[in-house]
Amino acid sequence: MVSAEESNRLDALHRLDLLDTSPGENFDRITRMASQIFDLPIAAISLTDSDRQWFKSRVGVEHSSIPREKAPCAEVAESRDLLVIEDFLTDPCYHDSVLARAGIRFYAGVPLMTRDGFGLGAMCVLGTSPRQAEPSELTALHDLAAMVMSQIELQHAFGRIDPISELPNRTQFFDDLSDLARNDTTKARNIVIVVDLISVEQMNHAVRVMGSAVIDDLVRISARNFRSLIGPHRKAYHIGSTQLAALAPESMNEFAYVNLLRTQTQKLRKLGGPDMIGTVALGIAPFILGELPPSDILRIAQGAAQDARATGKLFQIHSNTSDNAFRRSFMLLRDFEAALQKPSEFSLAYQPRVDLASGRCVGAEALMRWTHPTLGSIAPGEFIPLIERMALATPTTAWVLETAVSQLAQWREMGLELIISVNISSTNLHEADFAARVSQVLARHRVPPEFLELEITETAVMNDAEQALSQLNELAAAGIRLAIDDFGTGYSSLSYLQRLPVHVVKIDRSFMSDIDTDPRQFSLVTMMISMAKHLGHRVVAEGVETQAVLSQLQSTACAEVQGYLFARPLPVNEVASWMRDFNS
Ligand code: C2E
Ligand code: MG
Ligand code: MG
Repeated sequence: MVSAEESNRLDALHRLDLLDTSPGENFDRITRMASQIFDLPIAAISLTDSDRQWFKSRVGVEHSSIPREKAPCAEVAESRDLLVIEDFLTDPCYHDSVLARAGIRFYAGVPLMTRDGFGLGAMCVLGTSPRQAEPSELTALHDLAAMVMSQIELQHAFGRIDPISELPNRTQFFDDLSDLARNDTTKARNIVIVVDLISVEQMNHAVRVMGSAVIDDLVRISARNFRSLIGPHRKAYHIGSTQLAALAPESMNEFAYVNLLRTQTQKLRKLGGPDMIGTVALGIAPFILGELPPSDILRIAQGAAQDARATGKLFQIHSNTSDNAFRRSFMLLRDFEAALQKPSEFSLAYQPRVDLASGRCVGAEALMRWTHPTLGSIAPGEFIPLIERMALATPTTAWVLETAVSQLAQWREMGLELIISVNISSTNLHEADFAARVSQVLARHRVPPEFLELEITETAVMNDAEQALSQLNELAAAGIRLAIDDFGTGYSSLSYLQRLPVHVVKIDRSFMSDIDTDPRQFSLVTMMISMAKHLGHRVVAEGVETQAVLSQLQSTACAEVQGYLFARPLPVNEVASWMRDFNS
């Protein structure tokens, strides 16, 4: 069992993040001096870990650590006292130690003490002959140990103070919260406030126009003003490049705190000075010490600041609903990634597409379905945007393509001829080998390329249009049909449409709902259809739910329709019979 004192000592050591770091000249210089002063071949800065003595700096020793057991430095760390062993061979405790067996006869070590009184290890010298230690030598060894501690403290502070704001940084914030939680027995409610100084757009604009020094100025001035606003007894932190934070005074609830902030509205809005370039947004998050890890506490407060910014308010108190939404997204993403490894939770549904001229079903759109083990069916409208933000679109599209094309091959073998369309993501168009891989899938299943259609939204194409264009050209050159999905909801620029090697334009379903009752809406849709057709595209109307809407479309140049009027997306095993019935 490790005693409470030893566990606190180890904690103090570990928090310095010194163990297993590379050697540094600042420490080596001190070690060399120790060896010279004693005129001894071996000296070390030795830290006492749970089971080893680890040397931050050493001369005359090969190993970077030795076992803690029977190591004199461990005794120095524990006793926090000077230890001199004049001759190992006659020493009752150390005569059979590892060091004695290695030929060491002399040892002198002085404790390395933190300000809080923890012994981290020892500054030590060793020799291979017995000898005594002069008082002047020991005084020097004490001085060197003090120098080592100053160096350690300096280094530790170095990674914790932001050089621009001169405020403690996020690492320090996390450590302070952990310390508070450790020493708290009351489980009291605390409040953290995050001050977001400038929006991403404002920052990009300011940097482009005035250079990055303006952001440094903003942070420096805001940090100073924030510090004086919260007063000398509270600590301000610099927790993100343009974000500050502080804890509210103890025993203040969030409403009292908000009232206090209300009296400071003007000062808060102009934290960066009267000509401040950014718009301040504040996030306030109440929390109970020890209930959440510090990183979550900060995340919640940052989320609240984002909410404040999104709604144009000065501050927002963290609400559980927005956090729950975030948690759900986070969980879905994690589970989706896991599901990709064993895609039994995934399936494709196929929604028939009907040719208006012949009245026949000519194809179907493959739509992904996910049955989550505990949450049940999750709509693609929820998970697709999430995975598109992460790097998961690549494996997802690969799965969809493989599944859809192999299914298509099976249907073709059964004598069913149809075109399958598959939705792809903008990231796919940024994969240099995307077109090649699609062709490979088709070839492997012996499906001619003209039976596959890829649907891309306008927005996806506009994300770096040049790069997208080169992949689209390659796909088109390979004979694969391309469709613009949800047309009318994005940039809707017909001029760019002209440049794309696209065969099909699918007009978004949001346009369809009232074309039978609203003549202006109907004119708009008629115009979109005829323009797209003029540009040489086959036009598909999505979301046809009623006979009335269908009748209207029949009077336009629309070539194909898709919607609940004909069929909802069908499970894979119902597609063949549905098609045969429909087309007979
Ligand atoms: P989308 O590609 O525009 O697909 C059409 C969506 O409209 C489908 O929703 C379909 O069920 C729905 N829909 C079809 N007819 C009607 C109708 O008459 N009325 C109404 N109200 N809705 C209709 P779903 O399956 O929920 O998919 C939503 C979106 O998720 C898709 O929109 C597509 O953007 C995306 N998605 C689905 N599967 C995949 C996939 O495998 N990969 C990618 N990248 N995106 C996918
Ligand atoms: Mg689609
Ligand atoms: Mg669509």
